[in-house]
Parts: sequence; C-alpha cells; structure tokens
Amino acid sequence: MLRSISTLYIDSQVAGLPETERIRESLDVPAVTVDDQSVVFQAVRAAQDCVGQGKRSLFLTNNRGGFLKNCPGTSYYRCCGYKILDVAGFCTMDCSYCILQAYFHPPVLKYYINRERLAAELDAVFHNTGRPLRIGTGEFTDSMIWNCCTDLNSYLVELFAAQTRAVLELKTKTADINVLRGMKHNRKTIAAWSLNTERVISSEERRTATLDERLAAAAECEAMGYPVAFHFDPVILYDGCKEEYLKVIDRLFSYVSHNNIVWISIGAFRFMPQLKPVIEKRFPESVIAYGEFVPGMDRKMRYFKPLRIDIYRSMVERIREHAPGVCVYFCMEDDQVWEQSIGFVPAEKGGLPHILDESAVTHCGLAARF
Ligand code: SF4
Repeated sequence: MLRSISTLYIDSQVAGLPETERIRESLDVPAVTVDDQSVVFQAVRAAQDCVGQGKRSLFLTNNRGGFLKNCPGTSYYRCCGYKILDVAGFCTMDCSYCILQAYFHPPVLKYYINRERLAAELDAVFHNTGRPLRIGTGEFTDSMIWNCCTDLNSYLVELFAAQTRAVLELKTKTADINVLRGMKHNRKTIAAWSLNTERVISSEERRTATLDERLAAAAECEAMGYPVAFHFDPVILYDGCKEEYLKVIDRLFSYVSHNNIVWISIGAFRFMPQLKPVIEKRFPESVIAYGEFVPGMDRKMRYFKPLRIDIYRSMVERIREHAPGVCVYFCMEDDQVWEQSIGFVPAEKGGLPHILDESAVTHCGLAARF
C-alpha cells in the first residue's frame, strides 16, 4: 500500500529512532530530514496535483496534539460518541469523495512515531471507570495501509486484548488482514469494512479492494473469532442504486453470520462545499457532486431528505430480513430521518451512544458500566 511513496520526510526530532529507521529501511526511497514541517508542505503545495503529491510524500513526525480525540460530530445531528485514535494522517488509496482531500492544508501522509505517548493515553482510558469506550483509527487515515512498514495494528490489537474497558474498530477498504492472523485479540478488536456498490467502488474508490475481496476478508476475520462491522458510507444515489445496494446487503450476509456483526452504519454522501472543486479537478469523470443536494444545518451539502429516507428505509428493511436483531444506525442524521427510516428515535432506547455501547458490550465482552 505504501509502495507508491516517492519521498520520505523525517522530522529531525524523530530522526534515528528505531521506528523511524525501520520505516525508512522498508520503504527504500530518498529521505529528507527537516527541522520545520513547512518545508514538507511547501514541496507538496508546489505540485500541480498537490493532493496526489501528498499521497506520495510521507512525513514521519511526533503527534503533538494528543492521540485520542472526540469524533467531530455536530450538535444538529445524532452523534454516536465515538473516540478517534489519531495514529496517522491521509491515505494512499484515492476515493473521489474523500473529505481528507479538503480537510488537511495541504494533505500529506503522516505517521506518528511517539508511541510511548499513544500507549500512555490508551492506558489512561483502559483504567477509566465510566462507560465503555468505542475507539477507531479510521477518521484521518485507513490504518491498514500502514501494515506494510509498521506493526501499528498488531500493537494496538495486543494492547486492547489485555483490557475490558474499550473496543478498537479497525475500519478499512483494504483486504489486507495478514497482520490480524494468529493474534490473541480477545474480541476487543472489531474488524470493520466500508462497503459500497461495485459501481461506486470501481468508479469512485481508486486503489481499494473489490467488494468480494472485502467481504472474503471479513469472513476470514469472523473465522478467526473477530467481531465484525460494516459501514455503508457514503451511500451515493444514482439510477438503479437502490437495487444495487440491496444486492450488496444480500452479498454481505452470504459471507458473514448476522450474530457476529457488532453494528452496521448507513450514511448518505455529504460534503463540505470546498470538496466540490477538488472532486471536479481530480476526478473530472465523476458526477457524484451533482445530485439533488441541499445545505444541512452543519453547512454540509446533503441529498434532499426524502431521498435519504427512501434509500435508508429500503436498506434497513433488507438488513432486517437477514438479521432482525443486528444493530443498525445512521451516521449524522436527525430524529425525523431515524423515525421515518427505522421506526424509532435513539432517545427511546437511551440515545445512540448507549445503543452502540450495549452492542459492543454484548459482542466484545466489555465490562458494562453505563
Ligand atoms: S479509503 Fe478512506 S481515507 Fe482512504 S482515500 Fe478512501 S475515503 Fe479517504
């Protein structure tokens, strides 16, 4: 996955450290040591396709802002109370709709070396006495892309396996599960995949695994005892999309058993207005930014609400046919959408964080303390 990297930048503060050296040796590309990260950003900004250049430039540095962060939900929509483990930044895969293209200025692959701080922050939450925690690596990167030159994921699986207060979700669009084989995970790691229709995968998700590769990897993880999860996000509307999403749901349940699924999320495509020109420039053949969009209360562009409710309702119905009890939730939607798509609002069941905590407790054996 990181074989596309052409330049390695090393922050002088991490130069010569064992982890830095391991990565440098495994990549075998020209390395430049810098005292100031602006040198990296300037070099990337100078490229004609600075987003593409950012995917070929890796900056090894320390995480100075803290590894654990609250998921940046909004107060207007139902947020799930997730924690983000900020282990690295950006991605070598290339999805047209990827928010990271417009989120970082400029986007550059970043990997954080100061693992002692990561371990200390996790140790603190593993000793928390509050509600169980759901922690994921998939907000600022796809952590499975780092398997080829770091032991990050196996390190995390081991740490989480030794406690009962938190669960780790490794969400990916790769099928690279080699690192998960043979690990004592104690069901504290959820192997999770973003799913989409074959049409969206082939037209909008460059360099990702195919649908069947993702589902086969999920089936293998289930066979290794890992709980699994799936995210239909972003759901993209186009002619005939409903039938295709329903087929993906059928396919999903032909690979994995419903009682090992911790949760399935569904979220329609939404984007900050500044992403549109990036998509137009980098993916001129893509039409995803030209649907029936209206600005949401969080200023993101969203499909007109009745269209979202229509596809959600059909998808929930099909999931229920296969798995009446599986936990299904919507990412960043309001009560009206919940009510009309799934027949209840989260508050009736204790709130969305509570619904997800309960499922994590049931499937992953977390210590329950609500
Ligand atoms: S896999 Fe995720 S992080 Fe990587 S480019 Fe696609 S949307 Fe962005």
